[in-house]
Amino acid sequence: MATELPGCHRYLNRVAPTPLVPVRLAHAPAPVWCKLEFLNPSGSTKDRIARFILEKAWRLGRVKPGDLVVEASSGSTSIALALACAQMGLRFLAVMPEGVSNERVFIIRAYGGSVKFTPAAGGIRGAITEVQRMGEEANTFLPRQFANSDNAEAHRLGTAREVLDQIPGGKVDAVASGVGTGGTLVGLFEGLRENGCRVVPVLARPVNLISTPEVECCSFSARIPGVADAISEIFRPERVPGLMTVEVRDEDAIATTRELIRLGFPVGPSSGLNYAAACEALHRLNDPAAQVVTVFPDRMERYFTTELFKPFV
Ligand code: PMP
Repeated sequence: MATELPGCHRYLNRVAPTPLVPVRLAHAPAPVWCKLEFLNPSGSTKDRIARFILEKAWRLGRVKPGDLVVEASSGSTSIALALACAQMGLRFLAVMPEGVSNERVFIIRAYGGSVKFTPAAGGIRGAITEVQRMGEEANTFLPRQFANSDNAEAHRLGTAREVLDQIPGGKVDAVASGVGTGGTLVGLFEGLRENGCRVVPVLARPVNLISTPEVECCSFSARIPGVADAISEIFRPERVPGLMTVEVRDEDAIATTRELIRLGFPVGPSSGLNYAAACEALHRLNDPAAQVVTVFPDRMERYFTTELFKPFV
């Protein structure tokens, strides 16, 4: 069993803690406590699950230098895994539907990873099926973010613990997040609740979802990449009792994202979605002392060629 964890670049290996800051946009009834996850090394919250899953596998002797890590992801997770594999001396293969943005492919290749394309028509589900078909071959490790309970564990033991240490009084009344795999919302909710918070889980759901395969191959939601609660095995109703669902129109999420950027937070569209849902939760809780937490999952630079940056072109 390997004891020494890999990674020669100790500084770069540092994933979290990320800052938790109160953010109040003009229309907000009170500040929302925002976890700046875009400050993680690869630029998203997915560094947490990439490191957590790979380090656990390393400790258990399930991966060793030179092994191949294979994941279906068209977004942040594959970029985070590519970076973690580069640091840990592992090889990485991202399986993704044809048509994902070139930026993502270039970043993965720059970290030394490879990309295998599946037909665009199959969307992300087609990529997941392809990884399953490839199976657990010798010297291959599958993180399986949509099914692996360690995804939520990384947030339960990491993100939630940090929030409790950072927020005044250790009190959280609600936690809001969009759901891709559900790891963020489920893990945060469970970690906060088991530490004594009477916290309401809030699902930030983008509406105007267009789910044609063509769109799904680039992003789950047409306009809010990374977010779709339909294909996860982690996000199950019994894990989020008392769930409050807040629907946010895509255009409102994008407008909110631009406001956040204007304030100096270089975030992507799911941060606007999360912030808007957290504000609505504050309204619904109707308690001036309520402390609502959300996350800013990733950085704006991944979205230069999308609608988010249209006004600035
Ligand atoms: N925002 C972005 C940009 C994402 O890539 C993801 C995950 N795909 C999420 C939010 C949702 O996070 P989770 O998978 O933990 O539900």
